[in-house]
Amino acid sequence: MSWCSILVDLLIKNGVIITVNSKNEVISDGGVVIDADKIIDIGPMSKIQNYSFNNEIDAKGMVIIPGLINTHTHLAMTLFRGVADDVPGINWLPIIWSIEKNITAEHCYVGALLGCLEMITTGTTTFADQYWHMDRVVKAVNEAGMRANLAQGILELNEPDKGERELTESVAFAKKWNNSSNGRITCKLGPHSIYTCSPTLLQKTREAADEIDVGLHIHVAEAPNEPKMTKEKHGETSIEHLHNLGILKDDVLAAHCVFVNKADMKIMKQTNTSVAHCPTAMMKYGNEVAPIPELLEKEVMVGIGTDGCGSNNNLDMIEEMRTAAFLHKQNKREGTVLPAQQIIRMATILGAKSLGLENEIGSLEVGKKADIIMLDFKKPHLTPFHNCPSHIVYSAFGSDVDTVIIDGNVVMKNGQIITLDESKVLTLAQEAFEELLEIGGYSLSYEKNPKPGFKTNLTVKSFQTFLKLQQKLKGG
Ligand SMILES: [Zn+2]
Repeated sequence: MSWCSILVDLLIKNGVIITVNSKNEVISDGGVVIDADKIIDIGPMSKIQNYSFNNEIDAKGMVIIPGLINTHTHLAMTLFRGVADDVPGINWLPIIWSIEKNITAEHCYVGALLGCLEMITTGTTTFADQYWHMDRVVKAVNEAGMRANLAQGILELNEPDKGERELTESVAFAKKWNNSSNGRITCKLGPHSIYTCSPTLLQKTREAADEIDVGLHIHVAEAPNEPKMTKEKHGETSIEHLHNLGILKDDVLAAHCVFVNKADMKIMKQTNTSVAHCPTAMMKYGNEVAPIPELLEKEVMVGIGTDGCGSNNNLDMIEEMRTAAFLHKQNKREGTVLPAQQIIRMATILGAKSLGLENEIGSLEVGKKADIIMLDFKKPHLTPFHNCPSHIVYSAFGSDVDTVIIDGNVVMKNGQIITLDESKVLTLAQEAFEELLEIGGYSLSYEKNPKPGFKTNLTVKSFQTFLKLQQKLKGG
C-alpha cells in the first residue's frame, strides 16, 4: 500500500469483465473499484494501483457482468407457481383471478420476499414490477437491498369507480416512493391493459403520470383474443389505440407486444415506447411469437422480462436470455438471429434504457452505480474457459451466480445470500401459499396415485376444484 493511495470500499480483482459499454469491451484480467454506491475505476489489473481497500473480492475464474434487469414481473405471484399449468391460454387469467381475489398485503410481502430471494440468487439486481399491495413490495425490496421500478396496478373491469379508486392509489404509491431508498426505488403507474381499462381511465392515468413525472407500465397486445377485441371495440390495433389516446411516450414500458404490425412498430419507434419481452410466458401458453428481431431492427428499445411465476414459472433471467435467443433463431430458421452479445445487452443496458435508468445502471463504467454480478466459471458446463458472452447465454444457469453487489452493497457472496434469511423466507412462503389455498376453499393433501394423463400431483381437493373451474370456463 503506497502512502498516497486513496482508501475506498471495495476492489473486485482478477476477473474477466464483460463491461457492456458502447464498444462491448471485455477485459481479460480486470478489476472494478467501488466506493460507496458507485464504480470509481475499472480496467486491467495493471492499471488499478493507487487505491487501498477496506474489502477485496478475488474473482479469479469468475466472469463479472452488470446485474441483470428483469423488465416485467409480478413478484407476489411467486405464490402462484405451478397452480395454473397446462391450461388453455384463454383460461389462465380467470383461474389466477379465482385465487388472487383472496390475496392479502401480507401474502404479497411474503411473495415479494421469495421473489427477491430467487432473483438475487440468480443474478438479477433490478426488476420492474406491476401488482397490488405494492407498499409491502417496497418493504421486501428494502430488506433484500434490491433496485426496483414499482407500479401499483390499476384494474377497472367495467367498474369506473373501481378504476378511479385504483388510479388514485397508484398515484399515491408513486408519489410516496419514487426515488426513495437512495434512488434504488423508482415508480411508474400500472394500468393493467387495454382490455381491463377503459380509454377514459387510460387517458386519466396518462395525465396523472405527467403531473407527477413518472411513466406507465402496461401489458400491450399480449392476449390471443386482444387484436380481435380491440379491432371490434375501437377499430384499431392496441398500439394505435394507445397512440391515439396520447398514451405512448418514452416513459412507457409495454409488456409483451406480441401482436404488433409494421405500422405499430413505426409508432413505437416514433414515440420511443419500450418493450418488455417475456418469451417463456408466451411460449408456455402457446401464444404467438413477438416480432423482437424486427422491433430491434427498427431500433425500438427491447428489454427482457420473466413475467410473474404464475406463467413462467421462475424468475431466472439467465434461463430467460437463453430462451429468447433460441426462440427467435428457430422462429426465423436462422442461427444468426439475436446473437449472445445482443441478448446480454437486452438483459442489461437495454433493460436499463427501457426503465430510463441508463445513466445509472446496465453497464460497468466509471460513474455508474455498482450493480454487479459474478458468475463462477469453474464448472464442467462452463469449460473450456473462453467466449464468455456465449457461455453466459448458452451454457450457464442462474445457480452459477456466486456474488451479487447492488448499490455498492454485497448482498450475496460465495453463493450465500446475506440480506435475507433464506430458510425463513422459504417457510413463510409455503405457509402463505397454504393459507391462500385455505381461504379459497382448497386444501393441500397430496394425490398419492395421480390418474393417468394428469401430469400433476396437486392436492386432490384443489386439483378437482381447478378441473371443475376449467370445465366451467370452457362452458362444460
Ligand atoms: Zn404480466
